[in-house]
Order: sequence, then structure tokens, then C-alpha cells
Amino acid sequence: MLYNSTLNKEKKVASAQAIAQGIADDGGLFVPEVFPEISDNEMKELLNGDYKSRAKLIFGKYLTDFTSDEIDECVEKAYTAEKFESENPAPLHRCTYNGNEINVLELWHGPTSAFKDMALQILPHLLTKSLKKTYDGKEAVILVATSGDTGKAALEGFKDVDGTKIIVFYPESGVSPMQKHQMCTQEGKNVCVCAIKGNFDDAQTGVKTIFTDDNMKDKLAQNNMLFSSANSINWGRLLPQIVYYFSAYCEFVKSGRINLGDKVNITVPTGNFGNILASYYAYRMGLPVNKFICASNSNDVLTEFINTGVYNKNRDFYTTTSPSMDILVSSNLERFLYHITDSDDRLVKEWMTSLKKNGNYDVGCDIREKIGNLFYGGSCDDNATKTTIAELYKEDNYLCDTHTAVAINVYNQYVSDTNDKTPCILASTASPYKFCKTVLSACAPEINADSDEFAMTELLNKVTDVKIPQPIAELKGKEKRFDNSIEKSDMADFILKSLGVSII
Ligand SMILES: *Cc1c(COP(=O)(O)O)cnc(C)c1O
Repeated sequence: MLYNSTLNKEKKVASAQAIAQGIADDGGLFVPEVFPEISDNEMKELLNGDYKSRAKLIFGKYLTDFTSDEIDECVEKAYTAEKFESENPAPLHRCTYNGNEINVLELWHGPTSAFKDMALQILPHLLTKSLKKTYDGKEAVILVATSGDTGKAALEGFKDVDGTKIIVFYPESGVSPMQKHQMCTQEGKNVCVCAIKGNFDDAQTGVKTIFTDDNMKDKLAQNNMLFSSANSINWGRLLPQIVYYFSAYCEFVKSGRINLGDKVNITVPTGNFGNILASYYAYRMGLPVNKFICASNSNDVLTEFINTGVYNKNRDFYTTTSPSMDILVSSNLERFLYHITDSDDRLVKEWMTSLKKNGNYDVGCDIREKIGNLFYGGSCDDNATKTTIAELYKEDNYLCDTHTAVAINVYNQYVSDTNDKTPCILASTASPYKFCKTVLSACAPEINADSDEFAMTELLNKVTDVKIPQPIAELKGKEKRFDNSIEKSDMADFILKSLGVSII
């Protein structure tokens, strides 16, 4: 299995190279040359296995330059019951909203109570093995731009991993107080956290620019270091996400409510398009999917794209109660465009150039139709998000976070629009306790939800009796270690300084 760049299909690298590098030299993203198929026999194997064995089988299809021992070691270290509360890190919870059954895939039982743990607990292991194969002896400098959850999950995944350093940038006023507290109290001798005066896209653009800056690369090389990425553009982030869609399908079949081979709809609260792209990869490998429902908050650039074929980032940016989806440029869409055009790197390059130059591109009628046959796009604002949390709690006593609520709301719109009752798997991406203020005021409007985050955590627990995840319960009283805040133009200097590399 080799990997191409979305901007150049002649480029061919092995998976270790793709993971170690993060992003291709030409600025494109690494994509598998072909989609490996899961045979009927393998599907039965997945069905009868546990999560770890499912992960090993799927990883084996893509990481053909890894030995099976290496893959086993990565998987065994990542998905322990200790880190994910149980043997199945991604359980399926059945609930009812507006009379419709929804199978909620809970992806937030990991160490930071958000779905990014599913990938970021394994990425450091994949990455250190990849670096040994490709850049022996070099220290990896992990740069992360985060809208909240990635940062904390990456810090947890990489903390004290030998041969790595990690620097996380977040938008100063674009993350929740709890997310900020989680990051700024991070432990570990190889970690660094810094706020940017700007939004998530500023942070992401800054990181992307620094990655491809030859001057910066040289400076690091002189110090025996190289940049690598833990962002959702890294292939090592995307691959682990494919696993839980297969696993969810298997659990669904095992519950007896669908038969092997039956189609499902998949609904995903979407920001950078990584999570929903992973479900599309699963589909291309043979998972029976009828429709992908792409849910956005008021930053509805993807909804418009799916409906019109025009991607236009020239629009107002909203800071919402689902901050991990406050994104105007969904990086992983570039991979999807590459696949949906049958690997037309020339077209992808044209569109990405137009996006950079003009802030928009138009994929035209044919591609739009192709996308529309598979994808439904919808959005929901903060008010509707809150109402959805309240209604779901009232109807089914199930507590969900703001991002998951956006997905539930949009799924409900989809069913009303289409009357399509194909069984649905819906990705739940964070614990409700990560977004206490909104969740508490939705479920108990009579309570003043204006106190500090920890008081609200306890109130929400008192009102709903839903257990507080251990990682959040432990946060209280942790010492703050980082309070840097810089202009976006100062990111490169900040990096060099914190690495102890001379700026001149
Ligand atoms: C990152 C994140 C998302 C968006 O996922 P993408 O893969 O970027 O589309 C949604 N919800 C939560 C809680 C997240 O942390």
C-alpha cells in the first residue's frame, strides 16, 4: 500500500513516511492509492472479534510496511480498558429522539472525554515507529493547531513519549473555559501550550505555513529535529477513526437489530471533515452505508458546499457553543475531493489554489450531484442545539454534549425532509461534562448556570445523576503551567524559542 499526495498522484510513499511527515512536501495531504476491501470472511472476523482485533485487521490493510507485531503493540498500548473505561472504547448507545431511534456511538470514553482520544492515544505509537523506519535518530516536533479538544488529546497522547516534543496553539477566545483549563494544566516534560490572538483558522494556517517553510525546516534539521503533525491532516489520525465505524456496525449487527449487509445512515457533527471522512473510507472499503449526514453549527460552510457545490469561506465567523466545529476551512475535505474526482490531482490543485487566492471554489454540477447522492448537509444554531439537548434529556433521559446535539438536530431535519428511516449510527464526540454550561442550562433552566466550571460540573451531576468522567473530576485544583499568549505573526519565533533553537 502506497500513499499519494492530493496535489500529485505520481508521488508515492509508504505509510511510515506519510505518518512521519504529516503533510506532503508539496503541501498536499497523503491519501491511500487504493481502498483495500474487507471481504465477507473478514467481515465475519470483525463481527466475532473485540475492538482491538478489529483495529489490528484494518490497520494491517493500510500499514503494509509495519510488521504485525508492530501493529499489535500499537493497538495494545492504545485501547486499554484502563484508558477507555471498558474493553470496548466505542460503545453504541440506543436512544430515541422525536420518536426516531438513534444509535449513538459514544467516542468520548478516553482520557480527555472527547473523541479525539480514539486517534490520539494511538498516533504517538504509530509515529515513533514510523520515525524509526524513516528518520532514525531525529526528534519529532509535533505542532498542533486546535479548536479545543485536539490540543488536550494530543498533549495526553504525547506526554513524556521519548523522541517527541509537542507545541499546541489554540485561539484565545475560541475554546471553552474547561478546555483551556485542561490544556494549561497539562503535565509532562516535553509539552508546551500557547494562545493565539486570532481564531482557529489563523492558528491552523500558521501551523501549515510553518510546516512548509524551508528556513524553519533547515533550522530544525541543524538541531537534529523535524516537524510532524498530530492534526487531523495526519494519516495516522484518520486511519484509527475508520475502525470505530466498522466496530459500531458490528455491534449493531450483534444487537440483532440489523442483519449483516443491511445499510445504515451515518451522522457526524463535523468541523475539519476528519471524522466523517473516516466513515466514507469505511464505506469505500465495503461498509454498507446509504447516506452520510454532515452536521454543522452556524458555521455552515459545509452545508452550503454539499447543497450548492460552492465552497466559500468568505463569510462571518461565529463563536458557538460547539466550538470544536467553529471552522471555515475544513482541511480534510481536500482528501474527499481527491477521491470523489477519481484522483484528479489537477482539479484538486486548481480548487485549493482558488481557495487560497479567492477564498472559494466551485466543483461544478457533475461533482456536486455525485456528492449529493451520498451526502446530506444540514446546520443548526445555538438555540436549536440547546433545545435539542433539553428535548433528548426529557424524552429519553439521555444527556448529550453540544456537538452531539447539533448532529441529532440535523439528523432530525434529515428524517423530516426525506422520511428515510434507514437505521442510523450517530457519532457522539464529547462528554456532556465538557460543555457543562450549555448542557446544564438546557436541562435545568431554573438553575443559574453562571458559576465556575467546577461548580457547574457538580450541579449537572446533582440534577441529572449522570456520572462525571474521571478525567474531568480530577481537574479541579490542578496547577496552571502555561499562560503564553502571542500574535499569530509570532508563532515561528515562539516555536524556535521554546525549542531552544537560535532565531537568527
Ligand atoms: C474535533 C471535534 C469535532 C469535529 O470533528 P472533525 O473530524 O474535525 O470533523 C466534533 N466534535 C468534537 C467534540 C470535536 O472535538
